[in-house]
Amino acid sequence: MMDGVKIPQTAANLVLLGPPGAGKGTQARMLEETFGLVQLSTGDLLRAAVAAGTEAGRAAKAVMEAGDLVSDEIVIAILRDRLAEADCASGVILDGFPRTTVQAEALDGLLADIGQDIRAAISLEVDDSAMVTRISGRYTCGGCGEGYHDSFKTSAVEGKCDKCGGSEMKRRADDNAETVTQRLVAYHAQTAPLISYYDARGVLARVDAMAPIGDVAKELNAVVTATLA
Ligand code: ADP
Ligand code: ADP
Ligand code: ZN
Repeated sequence: MMDGVKIPQTAANLVLLGPPGAGKGTQARMLEETFGLVQLSTGDLLRAAVAAGTEAGRAAKAVMEAGDLVSDEIVIAILRDRLAEADCASGVILDGFPRTTVQAEALDGLLADIGQDIRAAISLEVDDSAMVTRISGRYTCGGCGEGYHDSFKTSAVEGKCDKCGGSEMKRRADDNAETVTQRLVAYHAQTAPLISYYDARGVLARVDAMAPIGDVAKELNAVVTATLA
C-alpha cells in the first residue's frame, strides 16, 4: 500500500424491513440518535408530498389511503432526490424503502453511482396478528415526529410530547383496521421477497421485533454495532 493514501470511509447504509407496525420508524429514530445516521422514510416523504399538494403527492394520496403501494416510478424519484442531499452522505437508515424488487435494484444502482452499497438489511420479525393492535394505537407528535402508542408507548404526561413538549398529536388516515389488512397483503406479496434478495447477498440480519420496544432496540444496537465494526 502506498504511503499517505487514505482508504475512503464508505458510508454505512442500512435497510429496515418489516410489515406495517413492525417498529421500523420507532427503531430508526433511535438508531439515528445512537449511530449518527439519517433516517429516511419514504412514507414520511410521501405524506409531506401529499400535504404540500405536489404532483407526486396528488398521485399518491388515494393509493396510500387504500393501503396499496405507490408506483415505483414516483417513490424512486422521491428517494433519489432525498438521497442526493448533503446530510445523507455519511449513511442512511432506510425505513419503508425498498418495498419491491424494482425499488431494491434501483437503490443498488443509485448507491453504486456514488461508490456506496447496503451494509446490512435488518428484518424486524413479527406476527401479522399483532400488527392491527400496533397500527390502531399509533399516534405521532406533530411538532417533532416522535412516535407513540395508546398502550405500548405512552408519554409521561398525557397528550404532551416527551421530546419537544408539543401537544398536537396526529393519527394517520391509513391507520385503521381495514387499510392495515390491505397493507399486510401488499407487504407479503411485494416486499417480503426482499428478505431473500438481501439474504442471497449475505447482508441480511433478523431481529425478533415481538419483544418490548427497549428489548428490540438492544438487539438491534448489537446487530448494527457488529455491522459497523
Ligand atoms: P412501522 O414504522 O414499522 O410501521 P412504528 O415504529 O410506527 O412501525 O410502530 C407502530 C406502532 O407500534 C407505534 O405506535 C409504536 O409506538 C408501536 N411499537 C413499535 N415497536 C413496538 C414494540 N416492539 N412493541 C409494542 N409496540 C411497538
Ligand atoms: P408503514 O411502515 O406503517 O407501512 P409507511 O409510512 O412506510 O407505513 O408507508 C405508508 C404508505 O405509503 C404505504 O402504505 C404506501 O402506500 C406508501 N409507501 C411508503 N413507502 C413506499 C414505497 N417504498 N413504495 C411504495 N409505496 C410506499
Ligand atoms: Zn414532539
